[in-house]
Order: sequence, then structure tokens, then C-alpha cells
Amino acid sequence: MAREKALEVPSYRDFLCHKLGSEGCELLFAENALKREYGEESTLFTYEKMNSFDNLFSGNYVRPAGGLSDIANAVERSAKRFGVKMYAKEKVKALKRKENMFVVQTDNFTVSTKKLVIAAPSFAFKEITGDLAAQIKSNRLFEAILPQPAFKAVAIYSYPWWENVTSSHYNLTLKPFEIFRSAATCLVDIMPYRHLTKAGSTLSKHDLAKWAKRPFPGEQIYMVGEAYSISPGWNEGALMSAYNALKEGWEIEQPEPYL
Ligand SMILES: Cc1cc2nc3c(=O)[nH]c(=O)nc-3n(C[C@H](O)[C@H](O)[C@H](O)COP(=O)(O)OP(=O)(O)OC[C@H]3O[C@@H](n4cnc5c(N)ncnc54)[C@H](O)[C@@H]3O)c2cc1C
Repeated sequence: MAREKALEVPSYRDFLCHKLGSEGCELLFAENALKREYGEESTLFTYEKMNSFDNLFSGNYVRPAGGLSDIANAVERSAKRFGVKMYAKEKVKALKRKENMFVVQTDNFTVSTKKLVIAAPSFAFKEITGDLAAQIKSNRLFEAILPQPAFKAVAIYSYPWWENVTSSHYNLTLKPFEIFRSAATCLVDIMPYRHLTKAGSTLSKHDLAKWAKRPFPGEQIYMVGEAYSISPGWNEGALMSAYNALKEGWEIEQPEPYL
């Protein structure tokens, strides 16, 4: 679509409705529990959502100088100071119960633990096997989570340079071949997910967050992440759920600020 034409549609939602027609649009938004009123302002949904989130946020915004990675790096530094061992490249394949322990399996390790914090978002968690994972997946609150692509990213180039180069020429830390699917002169991908609620569910995000902080009462399992929070799609949601886990599992009411 030409840039001039693109500017005629005020938002991605309007563009979709324009292309899908009224019935397709109804179906799409009914599926996502975001029923659209045709008379509404196109920005109304976003505005209302932002307003409700504003009540949750402290207003004390900080922009990390190095971008969002600064947060992950600070968490890593802080955890290592306490002697935490990290296996960032190990994907959890199975979660099981064995006697009074929880068993975590990756390709290279099997670890038994009395306490378990699950931080994988719901769409990734669905791939994890084992009886414990199955119990979580069969819970109606977990089933009500609707993973949704956050947005589609498109990078347009004058020519498809990636077809002629290998990553070693460019020393790329993020390899486009792994991250993006190539199409013509564009590199395109659906960016990561945020988590809404399935249409028809009567369960609220508050119900979900309450369940996730202790999915099996009396057992030391905690689920954290924006997917299980009242503020899906935001770091704030992930943080709030982590604070819930700290309170539940470690009786830490006031986490220290990270350095
Ligand atoms: C481009 C972009 C911009 C954003 N901008 C903002 C912003 O400005 N402000 C804001 O508040 N939020 C922003 N967000 C959203 C924010 O990044 C997320 O809400 C936040 O990262 C969610 O944290 P999380 O811990 O719940 O999940 P994630 O950050 O997705 O972490 C989940 C982790 O689990 C790992 N994992 C998954 N499956 C397994 C497995 N089987 N075994 C082991 N590990 C596994 C994944 O590799 C991942 O590291 C943005 C997101 C994107 C994509």
C-alpha cells in the first residue's frame, strides 16, 4: 500500500476492518473479546486502556539508558551477587512431580526442587510436557488466556541484502535469518505476544492473577509474568506478579530497588 493511502486509515484496527468488511471485522474482534462499535472513535479503546493502566502505575517513570535490556542485565547482576546459577540457553522441556519435589527437565539437565517459579508465558508454556505442566494447562484460568501477537514488524530495504550475505560478514548479534521471515525487499515478523482473555470467558484478569500467585494452595509453585497479571503486555504486569510471588513464597513485602 502506498504511504499516502496508508495515512487515510487512522489505525491498524481501522485498516483491518476496511479490508475484512463489517462481518470479518465483527468476527475478528468478537474472537478477541474486543467488540467494535462502529460509531466509536478509533482511539477510544487505547485511550480507555491507558487510563485504566494509569491507575496502576506509580507515575515514577524511568527510561533505562541502555534500553529494556538494562533491566534484564541488572537482574542478572543482582542474581549472580546472591550466587544464583544461570542456564539461559536451557529450554525447559518438562515439569513433573516426584514424591514431594518438582522436577524440571531440559535437554541437558534434570533438577529437583522444593520451590518453583514459572516465568514462561502461556504460549511457550503450552509446549512444556509432564504431569505438573498438564495440571496447570488444564486449569480453566490458564485455558482462558488468549495469546495475541503484539504487532507485526516490517523493515523495508531497497534490495534484499540478506540473500547475498552470511551473518559472519556483518557480525550481527541478532541474526535476521533466525528472527525474520524474508519477503521480497521486506523483513517481516510477528513480534512477541501479549495476553488477553478469550471471548466468552467470564474469568477476569484479577481471578487469573490471584490463581497464578499460588496455583496449588499449600505448594510452593508461583507463576510470574505479564501473561498472568492484571496488566498484560507491560513490564509493570510482569513486575507485579513477581512481587506477588516474593510475598507468597519468601514473605518479602518490599523488594529492594535494583542497583
Ligand atoms: C518491541 C517491544 C517493546 C516493548 N516496549 C515496552 C515498553 O516500553 N514498556 C513496557 O512496560 N513493556 C514493553 N514491552 C512489553 C514487555 O517487554 C513485556 O511485557 C515483558 O517483557 C514481559 O515479561 P515476562 O517476564 O512476562 O515475559 P518475557 O519477557 O517474554 O520473558 C519470558 C521468558 O521465558 C523464556 N521462556 C519461554 N519458554 C521457555 C522454556 N520452555 N524454557 C525456558 N525459558 C523459556 C523466554 O525465552 C523469555 O526469556 C515491549 C515488548 C516488545 C516486544
